[in-house]
Amino acid sequence: MKNPLKEVATGLGSLFIGMRLTLDQFFRKDVTVQYPHQSLEMPPRFRGHIELVLDEETGKAACIACKLCEKACPSDCIAVEGVKPEGRGKKVVTEYKLDFTRCSLCAACVEACKSEAIRFSKEYNLAGRNKEEFFMDLLKRLEDKSKKEASQPDAAPTPIPPATATEEAPP
Ligand code: SF4
Ligand code: SF4
Repeated sequence: MKNPLKEVATGLGSLFIGMRLTLDQFFRKDVTVQYPHQSLEMPPRFRGHIELVLDEETGKAACIACKLCEKACPSDCIAVEGVKPEGRGKKVVTEYKLDFTRCSLCAACVEACKSEAIRFSKEYNLAGRNKEEFFMDLLKRLEDKSKKEASQPDAAPTPIPPATATEEAPP
């Protein structure tokens, strides 16, 4: 027959071990955030879809429609068009389409661009019901983003830096 006192002692021991672990976690720094009200800041090397870079001087896309990125893309998912306005030495981009369903995030386009006019976005909130939603008009996305930032400078939730390795949960 089992000793009831021993069983109670074993149960209490387990209870205190569990409570100690709970308390230990309780006072650790949070590694999760209240999504979607808060979002994590993506690390510098994070690769979202490519996006056009804004030329701060002109307020327009920095792209000069040279098509180097289009030629460099191994998946053939970029289509760029541009025109050369009267009196200007460089073209301005009039269309920049990305088929993100075929993009492998290889960076060939970003590396090919001598004007530093494209980069990887930090966008990770991508979801859609059909693949057509991932045929992106990057010029329009840039314009929409610029307008939104100009009209609602404080609208975006402040990204929170991710917890460092030392702040992560114990092994
Ligand atoms: S990251 Fe690679 S696959 Fe994606 S658009 Fe650029 S070159 Fe093409
Ligand atoms: S993004 Fe860069 S490489 Fe591509 S067309 Fe524009 S300027 Fe040329």
